[in-house]
Amino acid sequence: MSADSKLLLEIKNLSVTYDAANPPVRAVDGVSLQLRKGESLGIIGESGCGKSSLALGIMGLIKQGAVAGEIIYSGHNLAGLPEKKLRKHRWQDIALVFQNSLEVLNPVLNIGEQIGEPLRTHYSLAAEEIDRRVVKLLAMTGLEPDWRHCYPHQLSGGMRQRVLLAMALSCDPEVLIVDEPTTALDPAGKNELLQLLQKLQKKSGFAMILISHDLGTVRKLTSRVMTMYCGRVVESGITSEVLKNPMHCYTRGLLNSSPNFFKYKDLWGIGGEPPPGGSSEGCAFYPRCCQGDASCGRSRPPLKYIALERMVACHKGGIETFLRAEGIRKEFVLKNKEIKAVKGVGLTIRSGEVAALVGESGSGKSTLAHILAGVLQADAGQVFFKAKKVEGRWATKMLQGMQIIFQDPFSSTSHRMKVLEVVREPLDIIKWSSVPAREAAAVEALQTVQLPTAPDFVNRYCHSLSGGQRQRLAIARALVTKPKLLIADEVTSMLDPSTQANLLRELKGLQNRRGFAMLYITHDLHLARKIADKVYVMYQGEIVEAGVSFEIFEDPQHFYTRRLMSEAFSDLV
Ligand code: SF4
Repeated sequence: MSADSKLLLEIKNLSVTYDAANPPVRAVDGVSLQLRKGESLGIIGESGCGKSSLALGIMGLIKQGAVAGEIIYSGHNLAGLPEKKLRKHRWQDIALVFQNSLEVLNPVLNIGEQIGEPLRTHYSLAAEEIDRRVVKLLAMTGLEPDWRHCYPHQLSGGMRQRVLLAMALSCDPEVLIVDEPTTALDPAGKNELLQLLQKLQKKSGFAMILISHDLGTVRKLTSRVMTMYCGRVVESGITSEVLKNPMHCYTRGLLNSSPNFFKYKDLWGIGGEPPPGGSSEGCAFYPRCCQGDASCGRSRPPLKYIALERMVACHKGGIETFLRAEGIRKEFVLKNKEIKAVKGVGLTIRSGEVAALVGESGSGKSTLAHILAGVLQADAGQVFFKAKKVEGRWATKMLQGMQIIFQDPFSSTSHRMKVLEVVREPLDIIKWSSVPAREAAAVEALQTVQLPTAPDFVNRYCHSLSGGQRQRLAIARALVTKPKLLIADEVTSMLDPSTQANLLRELKGLQNRRGFAMLYITHDLHLARKIADKVYVMYQGEIVEAGVSFEIFEDPQHFYTRRLMSEAFSDLV
């Protein structure tokens, strides 16, 4: 949509407050938006985030509540107009397709009477003309004319939704607001309705605001999108870019909960609940955010541009980059032969993100992991952890830093160390607090990975543990410093499938609850597909393909990725 298209609707600082509640609820809190002719804007967010109140506020249909701000349609401010004047604009200029057809349609009036109602209100037309237009509207929305003599309960959910659409289009509005159009529909009905909306918009040229928590629908129908949380806009931008690369932790949480994007990944909803009452002093998302700190609770982040066509409300400018590597090279000499293990690799890992590094054994994954963690020195290139250059192992020797878990984590650990000592050791190395405090932290870490904390277990030597217990112990040892980034190098590859599944689920659950970022290194694409937000494919020392996991797994581009996929998944086809 060109920026030169006519500006139809401009909302400035709109607020909706339900005063009848005690305390009053600010459902919409200072929302601004612009809508141009023929454009489609998606509004996404969890139930209760204020999407529907925004629609009702624009339509002037808020009952028992106060609306403040400006609603400028074709240069005229509709906010605060008396109902009689507002009614002239409603349906003719801006129309709303409500979400719950059974509640909205009058059970004692037939369909024809209800579709004809806006026509009777706005035009002085003869009954025959109204009937003729009703038949035309039914045809437009794919319904036979005879349905106009029926009552709402005689129609299916999909048909009733079409009736609401016909009603909304009856006066040929320039702006159509569609509120959760497909919520109650089965997949076939949903697809039909979406195609119909697309077709009608193309034909009639109306601008559309699509309110939905179904991100697949928003991806199909809109060119721009806004994310709402607690009545405020927290992110906005071009739909395809926002859904591929969200910059607000909340938008990413919505995506990660969305089955139509990550078809194979385990779904993890956003932990916690929005604060009651909608509004708060600081960032409303702070209690649920994986990268928030005390400063986030002090003041509200304003919605600001962070790139062209992208706005985010976050004190940290959106999702932070924790790890950035550029041009990493590493060569080994083996039997007088030079082996280029890593050839100019770059990658980034953002806070709260799970990136999978996949490739066959020998592709250079583990060498790269060791370089990223500062365990191995690169021949060339740079690694930054939270924008600070990684030289040596400082990033792994701090609280809230980076930790790496190896495939066989205790091969280099003294067999004379006991369970509690192994977990406590990273805190001993950095001399954190007192010994009793370190022991308490070690016990907490053991509990986190569901290992026993009874004296007879914590005083055992590591070599007496099973493979699964040893890997859990390695995770506990890594978590004891509360890392912000975990590098997990083939951590489950030596385990049996059941232990592997349990451990992986726990690791992902921990990641989700604590919000740390993780680089998960594996040659197992099944596992990567289950947990990764982003995938890097490594082949002969190079990253040959990288991207969001739903794109890589559904449409791999590089021949090597395709080969890996066909080898991994061919038995499932
Ligand atoms: S980092 Fe802070 S300001 Fe940004 S979304 Fe999280 S809690 Fe809000």
